[in-house]
Amino acid sequence: PVPHRTTLELLADAVAAAPDSPATTYLGGSLTYREVDELSDGVAHYLLERGFNPGDRLALYLQNIPQFVLALFGAWKAGGAVVPLNPMYRDELAHILTDAGVSAIVCDEQAWSEHVRERATAAGVTTALTASPLDLQTLDDPRVFAGLTRQRSEGADDILDVARARVGRRPARPGLTPDDIALISYTSGTSGLPKGATNTHRNLTVNAVLLRLYDEIPPGSPIFALAPLFHITGMVVQLLNAVDLASPLVLAYRFEPGVVIDALKRERPAYMVGPSTAYMALMAHPDYSAEAFASLRTLNSGGAPLPPAVVERFQEQTGLYIRNGYGLTETSAPCVVVPAGSEAPVDPDSGTLSIGLPLPTAMVRIVDEDGRDLGPNEVGEIAVEGPMVVPAYWNRPEATAESIPNGRLLTGDVGFMDRQGRVYVVDRKKDMINASGFKVWPREVEDVLYGHPAVREAAVVGVPDPYRGETVAAFVSLRPGGSAEPDELVAYCREHLAAYKAPRTVSIRDELPKTTSGKILRRQLRGTTSA
Ligand code: ATP
Repeated sequence: PVPHRTTLELLADAVAAAPDSPATTYLGGSLTYREVDELSDGVAHYLLERGFNPGDRLALYLQNIPQFVLALFGAWKAGGAVVPLNPMYRDELAHILTDAGVSAIVCDEQAWSEHVRERATAAGVTTALTASPLDLQTLDDPRVFAGLTRQRSEGADDILDVARARVGRRPARPGLTPDDIALISYTSGTSGLPKGATNTHRNLTVNAVLLRLYDEIPPGSPIFALAPLFHITGMVVQLLNAVDLASPLVLAYRFEPGVVIDALKRERPAYMVGPSTAYMALMAHPDYSAEAFASLRTLNSGGAPLPPAVVERFQEQTGLYIRNGYGLTETSAPCVVVPAGSEAPVDPDSGTLSIGLPLPTAMVRIVDEDGRDLGPNEVGEIAVEGPMVVPAYWNRPEATAESIPNGRLLTGDVGFMDRQGRVYVVDRKKDMINASGFKVWPREVEDVLYGHPAVREAAVVGVPDPYRGETVAAFVSLRPGGSAEPDELVAYCREHLAAYKAPRTVSIRDELPKTTSGKILRRQLRGTTSA
């Protein structure tokens, strides 16, 4: 059965079930579910007073701070749709704010003065609220707050001030339906100019509610927000999942491994989800100890490939198994997940770790170029249908017709399904390397590199070659204390792979470029082959 609900109904249930339990904890401070409800009503009233209408768009330009949650529910209570933005964006803002027709923004206080105000005004934003990461916390951690001070924001009001001033008014009731747009989520642009996926309330709630069945997290137990809330994984698997369970969402501003380790020890969360790069960064940190993870009952990796060697290494050190999960912005986060209590198999031929089984509401198929279904173990494009698939891209009828024909999402990922219905991602369609006519999937080579004891991160790309068309180039960063020479890594790959798949060059970097959601940016590495 598909829940016929809006996100506001999830919140109302949590408020009824656990009004005085913490909804957010943030560096020592907390807000209860009742407070989140009242303050987000205050935000909604403020927006309505400013002429914000049902269906209008409000952008969020914030790290993981409690005001994110207040602004999100406040915008929904005013009947609006939310456009979550990556706080690293600079010139990208102009495109997204204009494309989404944003009229209101809630912005980090310092960013507002430094670089957002002008761009937002030019893009036609008329209402601005600011939020300070220094509010609502009690621990002044210099690792995250260095250089931050409170300041007056010109042309903007403080979100907590306006919300508190309006507490006690009647609740805002916007009359939303599950098919109204809740989010316009811009894809991170690893495959071109960002497009806005329109996640409806139903898209979001169906996934949040199903995760309860899959993750076996006891209601009320804390969920740690390792992933950014502006990304769909953070939004659904952390935030809405926490609301569905009436659990505290543990926030720590942004991903800083030392701060995360302290917060894990202090808040004792039962669950977290993040990209494999975040797990590797935690393990590589000097403050790391297995004890930090002792309270976790289940861990997920999502939104980026998970190398089997990382799962093994993590399990050896912590005793915890990282469960793979697969999804896109367009599937409102997960649609294929390894169920709690089980471990995903590795395909013996390619060494790929399975992403798990489709969620009960997701119809996952492997199709050929003409959209025809392929059989077990046949490699083709992964296609997804179901109530978590967005109906459209915002104002992009051609892109919608191309990628979501008749409601079936063509993911752009290549994969296969075994006889048990378990799904495997081979790679992204467009990242295939064609070396003298041989197909090389970068993921397979990366998985091998991750198996080398000195390697922390690996990325493999195709680079132009006058003889072969393309050749394979690898980039790696090393683990603390690890040492390896490029030649040795090439030889290591040749030991494990057909010669044409082994990289011709390996460049060693301190750090590989990543999106804020932790995905390694292969695109940025193409054309930079010298070490
Ligand atoms: P864009 O769509 O602009 O390229 P993006 O890649 O960041 O941006 P997302 O929706 O965040 O867009 O990411 C979805 C993609 O992430 C999937 O299509 C897939 O390639 C990859 N992905 C997600 N989960 C997994 C997983 N468990 N294993 C392998 N790949 C994954």
